[in-house]
Amino acid sequence: MRLSLTSKSLRRLPRRTRERELILDRLPSLPGHFSADDVLDALRRHGVSRATVYRTLDLLVDQGLLQRVHLDEGGARYELIHDRAPHAHLYCLGCGRLTDYPLPFLLQLPGRVMRQKGFAAEHLLFRICGYCRHCRSARRGRRRNISNAIPKRTRKS
Ligand SMILES: [Zn+2]
Ligand SMILES: [Zn+2]
Repeated sequence: MRLSLTSKSLRRLPRRTRERELILDRLPSLPGHFSADDVLDALRRHGVSRATVYRTLDLLVDQGLLQRVHLDEGGARYELIHDRAPHAHLYCLGCGRLTDYPLPFLLQLPGRVMRQKGFAAEHLLFRICGYCRHCRSARRGRRRNISNAIPKRTRKS
């Protein structure tokens, strides 16, 4: 999905330095869930520093333009959330892949939580952890190999 970076929310951004402009311009062409390293790689020839990338990503999260998704194995990925409906993430415990899954009912949750608990939700993270199709078939194959490696007489029938 191509996002317009001339939108009002992005123009709100304080202190638009040249490096920040470069980062902002590059974000829509990155994969849906990108890491700080992806941003660094994309801007390598412009000499944008790691510190600047992290600072800018933090700022964009604070501004509500990016969502930070913490990964179980450490690190984080980011995604542009402006103009996007809340969605769940299918998180593969095997390969670490994040896949979006639309959940329209997530839109109604903040209002319901506010009414029931008086809690104002700032953003929503909903993650379903498991194994993707690719990792599931790889695991099935591995299990078969293990059971083939067990000598026949010790194998339970
Ligand atoms: Zn996987
Ligand atoms: Zn996502």
